[in-house]
Amino acid sequence: MGRLKQLPNRLTSLPPRIASPSHQSEADRNRYRRATQPWRKWYSTKAWQSLSWKVRLEAHFTCAQCGRVEGRKGQTVADHKIPHKGDEALFWDENNLQCLCKLCHDKVKQAEERAAGW
Ligand SMILES: [Zn+2]
Repeated sequence: MGRLKQLPNRLTSLPPRIASPSHQSEADRNRYRRATQPWRKWYSTKAWQSLSWKVRLEAHFTCAQCGRVEGRKGQTVADHKIPHKGDEALFWDENNLQCLCKLCHDKVKQAEERAAGW
C-alpha cells in the first residue's frame, strides 16, 4: 500500500512530447518554465480567463496607466498591481488586478523585471 503513495505527481508533470524537432527548444523552455514556475499554468485556466475578462470589462477596456480605451481583441491585459511572484492569494485577488493596455503592461513588466534584477 505504501508504494502507491510514491507515484504521485509524476504523471501530471510529464510534458506532452508532441513538439516537432524544430520547436524543441521552445518546448524545452516551456517545460522548464512549467517545472520552475508552476504559477504560469494558472494563466491558462478558465478561472483566470474569466477573472481577467471581468476586470477588463469592468474597466471598460480602459488602461489604468495611460487612459487609452483599447477595443481591439488581445490588446488589454489584466495586470497584477502587486506582483504575485507565485503567491496564489495575490494572483487571484480581484482587487489586485487592473486593466492595462499592452503597451503599458509591457513597460511595467520590463521595469519590474529590471528592478528585480532579471
Ligand atoms: Zn496604457
